[in-house]
Amino acid sequence: MSVNIINEKCKGCTICVKNCPFGAITMSGKLAVIGVACTSCGVCVDKCPFKAIEKIEEEKVTTDLSEYSGIWVFAEQRDKKIMPVVIELLGEGKKLAAEIGCELSAVVCGSGIGNLADELFEYGADKVYVADSPELEKYTTDGYTKVIFEAIGKYKPEIVLLGATHIGRDLGPCLAVKANTGLTADCTKLEIDPDDKKIKQTRPAFGGNLMATIVCPNHRPQMSTVRPGVMDKAAKVPGRKGETVKLSVSFSEGDIRTKVVDVVKHLKEMVSLTDAEIIVSGGKGMKGPEGFELLRQLSHRLGGVVAASRAAVDAGWMDHAYQVGQTGTTVKPKIYIACGISGAIQHIAGMQNSEQIIAINTAENAPIFEVADYGIVGDLFKVIPAIIDELDKQCS
Ligand SMILES: Cc1cc2nc3c(=O)[nH]c(=O)nc-3n(C[C@H](O)[C@H](O)[C@H](O)COP(=O)(O)OP(=O)(O)OC[C@H]3O[C@@H](n4cnc5c(N)ncnc54)[C@H](O)[C@@H]3O)c2cc1C
Repeated sequence: MSVNIINEKCKGCTICVKNCPFGAITMSGKLAVIGVACTSCGVCVDKCPFKAIEKIEEEKVTTDLSEYSGIWVFAEQRDKKIMPVVIELLGEGKKLAAEIGCELSAVVCGSGIGNLADELFEYGADKVYVADSPELEKYTTDGYTKVIFEAIGKYKPEIVLLGATHIGRDLGPCLAVKANTGLTADCTKLEIDPDDKKIKQTRPAFGGNLMATIVCPNHRPQMSTVRPGVMDKAAKVPGRKGETVKLSVSFSEGDIRTKVVDVVKHLKEMVSLTDAEIIVSGGKGMKGPEGFELLRQLSHRLGGVVAASRAAVDAGWMDHAYQVGQTGTTVKPKIYIACGISGAIQHIAGMQNSEQIIAINTAENAPIFEVADYGIVGDLFKVIPAIIDELDKQCS
């Protein structure tokens, strides 16, 4: 809905200006003018004594929802390797597909990637749409968007899931705008409404203080980007087969407006917190970057990786690539050792699904102990060297 001033009826009384809750109406001479702050709430329509403001209903959406079926997972690959989040999406997609009673498919783009279909079948895809072309060798927003948008138009999936990686966060909104549909970004939970089989997409909002559940009732496909590390990975069924569908790929000059000159691997790609089985994580209690050297010694002995809280990252002690939490990476290792981390909700959000949590903290009332399976109240600069000594003794 939108609202509109009928200029011929406006008497310039300014009642609408005074009553607009958003300060969106101004006067231009003797005429009221609706500005960009208008939310179409309609308060002014009722307040105008001269019936000079009208509501304009938007055209009804005419999407035939019944034409759309099936769940698609965007199978992001880098260097011809399927990203871990894709396996998580297939695991979640399988559950959702069973609830809806529909097919689970994957769509993969790249060059020389046809054999990835076999891996995607083994992880649960019933069908794999493959776009294999030299123009798709490196990810480009235009290239991937064109191919997948055309495939969506042709095959009409009802749900499209993408990992909330840098590529997924770039591609998802472009596809959603082209398909004129809704997208919920960075979801942490997906459910099917048993009544109407629509997908309920939940994501943290307002700095994690509120969990918003969002539905896309009238447009298709329903699209979500999903946080890596949150969903369980699909189990591999070796030898499982499915149907491969080749997508036609044709580009005209100017379709792809960017040229990828080089892909430089940043440190970020070398830190694989989502894959780590053991994470030794440090916070503000590490006192400085040198403290993290102690954590490296411990993680080295345990075969794990080091991570950090945002406070440690903000202090410049560790790169953001190591940050665990709501604005960092979500992790689910077998063991998460939180050292000098208070356990703020934004940190907990990123590690609470770890199988075992061990906390070391001087403050016995630190919230981290509420989620910890084992807690050590003590000075980490004494506790960690003692653990290292013990591990060394056992290994010698
Ligand atoms: C929108 C938003 C997003 C956020 N995203 C994230 C995020 O992704 N990840 C994240 O971590 N935070 C995030 N935060 C910040 C979060 O709220 C906390 O500020 C942060 O997690 C605190 O980090 P910390 O526990 O390391 O530091 P502190 O809260 O300062 O805790 C340090 C702890 O170390 C203990 N300690 C001190 N000395 C020792 C010692 N010698 N031995 C043992 N223990 C010791 C103290 O008792 C204390 O509990 C976010 C905040 C906001 C508002």
